[in-house]
Order: sequence, then structure tokens, then C-alpha cells
Amino acid sequence: MSEISETSVITIAGAGLAGSLLAVFLARRGFHVEVFERWPDPRRHETPAGRSINLALAERGIYALKQVGLHHRVAQFAIPMRGRMIHDEAGHQALQPYSSSDREVIYSVHRVRLNIALLDAAEETNRVHIHFRQELKSVDFDRGLAVLLDHASGREYSSPVLPLIAADGAGSPVRAALEKYLGFEASIELLDHGYQELSIRPSPSGQHRLNPNALHIWPRGGYMMIALPNADGSFTATLFLANKSDQTERPSFASLEKPAAFRDFCNTRFPDLTPLLERLDSEHAEHPVGVLGTVRCPQWHLDGRAVLIGDAAHAIVPFHGQGMNCAFEDCLTLDAAVAESKSWPQAFARFTAARRDNANAIADMALENYLEMRSAVIDSRFQLKRELGHELERRHPRHFLPRYSMVMFQRLPYREAQRRGAINERILEHLIKGVERLEQVDFDRARELVETQLNPLDGSEKAIIL
Ligand code: FAD
Repeated sequence: MSEISETSVITIAGAGLAGSLLAVFLARRGFHVEVFERWPDPRRHETPAGRSINLALAERGIYALKQVGLHHRVAQFAIPMRGRMIHDEAGHQALQPYSSSDREVIYSVHRVRLNIALLDAAEETNRVHIHFRQELKSVDFDRGLAVLLDHASGREYSSPVLPLIAADGAGSPVRAALEKYLGFEASIELLDHGYQELSIRPSPSGQHRLNPNALHIWPRGGYMMIALPNADGSFTATLFLANKSDQTERPSFASLEKPAAFRDFCNTRFPDLTPLLERLDSEHAEHPVGVLGTVRCPQWHLDGRAVLIGDAAHAIVPFHGQGMNCAFEDCLTLDAAVAESKSWPQAFARFTAARRDNANAIADMALENYLEMRSAVIDSRFQLKRELGHELERRHPRHFLPRYSMVMFQRLPYREAQRRGAINERILEHLIKGVERLEQVDFDRARELVETQLNPLDGSEKAIIL
């Protein structure tokens, strides 16, 4: 059964962000899709607190949603963020716009609301059947069967899964089954920093207590707090911090386990924020410290029998706000590969070839961005380079785009954004040598460098506003 026909039934493991969006894409092509999700239906049950409540949605994700007409639905609860609001230790705030153009913004979206919008859209196609509380336990690739556990009855049963698309997240059991079957090992690089979510309630009149149109950052060198707005007037703050520390003076989740130590640390390092964290003690005690890591997988598919997408194939650290955006771009690419192919092996091979290097590129850029967010944003040289980057974009829009813009506001392949970004960096470093202010930059030299070192960009990849 390797030929693609509309009567094929496709199985997707995981009804998270990638699984539910992919179901919509495939149903629109006429396929019947069976989705198995281990958690209960989020439309009927509360989801556990403290697990990345909101996400930054950017151009790649918006574009994918647009292809299935879902961007208007998501726009109803998406909050535009125009830049980074940097909070220093004295409580001063300064906005660093993301772009020289007002049109280029990213959006804060509520994970569960987004997931619900995608699940609704999948079911509305009448071709998608989502089975909640059904956990995939193992896969027998030779027989094309998966063993699933029904959480309601505790019963295990087999179900045919040919082809199987694994959208089952960073800890993907399908990836584990593939590793065993094909005899390879995915690389899992855990960061020695974790994260914990805290909340800022709305004001008594229901308003946001910080500027809602910014992604707030409290950069503190070795660690940082960030906060993203929610549509109900609240914010979700996330502390990114070392899990453990060998030096006692360096804060870590381990050294700040006791409530008094954690409160003291927050009061000292985030004095303007801490009074807004009304449930600091209880949330610190109750919310888990999340693990962050990068998954790089040498094989993404087994001929036409199974393929990995989203975090299952390439989990990345969240510092570029791209994991979901990249997963949505995967859905678009896999859908196109299926449309262009005659057989499943061909479709999965095309998809893998199109995405693997790009996934590695965004994984690298996401790791680099942690340093930028927690420390470089307060460095005056970084700020000068950022301003110069925006100025070069204004002066030479066909040639120069800051790397952040290429990743967040364009759909240029990530690998290309990374390649051009490295050239940008060399040009910027060269131009700011011995320079204190933007007016002192040699813009004739800048033109020469930009035009000789960077190919003109194709103007068709411009951003879309929700
Ligand atoms: P998931 O969303 O994890 O979905 C996987 C689904 O599979 C889940 O529903 C799970 O229950 C299900 N599943 C797992 N195992 C089984 C099983 N055995 N059987 C059945 N079902 C199973 N990305 C952004 O683009 N922007 C951001 O701002 C951003 N911020 C983030 C902040 C944090 C703190 C973190 C941790 C991540 C962030 N991300 C962000 C990344 C984003 O969350 C992921 O990239 C995205 O959720 C990947 O989607 P997915 O569908 O591949 O995986």
C-alpha cells in the first residue's frame, strides 16, 4: 500500500498543534484521517497549568494557517507584539521594535485556544476522526499496526496505521519505535536551563498591567524572565534559569527551591515585576520546571510507512519563538509533497529532503537567541548593530534583511536565513568598528558591502498581517 489514493486512511499520532493542523490539510485533499491523542479533549476538560500557555505566532505559522483559511479565526485571540520591552534592574523600560516597519509584528496566541480552533476546523471537514485519551504505546512496522491504550477502560488494542504520521511531540514514542526498528539514535541535547511559568493577573478593571503590545524581557545575563500578553488581560511570565549551579552565588532552580529564597531573588532581580506576580509562592511550588532541549534525528521516515513532523522530528529550544511556526511550515510542506507525489515513500522522502537542513538551521539559531535575549539586548554594541541593521534594510531593502526579520517575518528557508545572517553579521561588525553612533557609519562602504556580498532578495516573500 504505497500508492497514494484519496481512499487512503491516514493515521496521525498526536492532536497537538502540528497533528491537528495537518489533519485539516489532509482532509482538504480528500483523505480520511484518524487522529489518536493521549490527553482528553481540551474543549471539555481543563489542561494542566504551567505548560507554555502562550506562544509567539509569526509569518511562517500565519502563512500555513492562511492556506486553510484559519488565520481569521486565530486573529480573534491573537495579540500583536511590536517589539521587545526591555526591563532593567532599576525598573526602567525601553522598547526595541522588531522591525523598521509597523507592519512587521509577531502575535501572542493562547496555546489551548489555538489547539481548539485547529481541532474544530479538523472536525468540520467531516473527514477527521479524533480519538482522545488513546495513547500510542508501540508500533509494529512490519504488520502496519500500532498498540494503543484506551485511558477510559485501561484496555490495550491494535489499530492499523498505514501510513502513520507522528506528530507526537518532543518525546515522540513513534520516533523511539523508529530508532529501534532502523537501529539509529536521535541526538537529544538537553539545555542545563529549565523554565517555570508564573502569572500576572489583569487589573481590577480587566486591563493588562504592562504594555500588551510587546514581548517583555527582564534580561539578567545568565538568565531571564519574559512575559507575553493574553487576551483576557493577563500575562504569562516565564523564568528561564539554570537547573543547578556549582557556584552557590549563581541562582538556579535548585538553589531557589525554598519559597523565601525564590521570593527574595525575584524581589531583588525583578523589582518592577514581582509585585505583579500575585501567586508567586503557590505557582513556584506547584508549577513544574520544564525541560528544554534540541532533538536532531538522522532519519525522519521509514519508506512510506511512517514519517515524523513537528517536535517529534526536530524539537528546538523556544528562544526564537519558532517551534510551532516551524511545525506549521512542516504541515504545509508535507501537504505539498503528498500532492506532488504518486507514492507515500516518495512523498515522505520529498518532505524530509525539504525540511531536515532547515530544521537544523532553526535549531542552531534558536540556541544562539538565548544569549541574545538574556544578555546581548542590554549591550550597547548589540543595540548599535540592531539599529544599523534596520537602517541598512531601509536603505537597501532588496539586499539586506536582519536575520530576525528573515526568520520571523519572511518565509525564506531557515537555512538561507542562517547563511545570509552570517554575512550580515560580518558586514555589521565591519561597519561598526570604531563607531559609537549610527550617524558615524560609512554608508557608502555599507552600500558596497551589501550589494556585493548579498544577492538581491525575491520581494514575493513579504509578511502578511493577520
Ligand atoms: P506538541 O504540541 O507537543 O503536540 C504533541 C501531541 O502529541 C500532544 O498533544 C501530546 O499529548 C500528543 N502525544 C504525545 N505522545 C503521545 C502518544 N503516545 N499517543 C498519543 N498522543 C501523544 N513555538 C513557537 O512557535 N513560538 C513560541 O513562542 C514558542 N514558545 C514556547 C515556549 C516554551 C516554554 C516551550 C516549551 C515551547 C515553545 N514553543 C514555541 C514550541 C512549541 O510549543 C512546539 O514546537 C509545538 O508545540 C510543536 O507542536 P507539535 O504538534 O509538534 O508537538
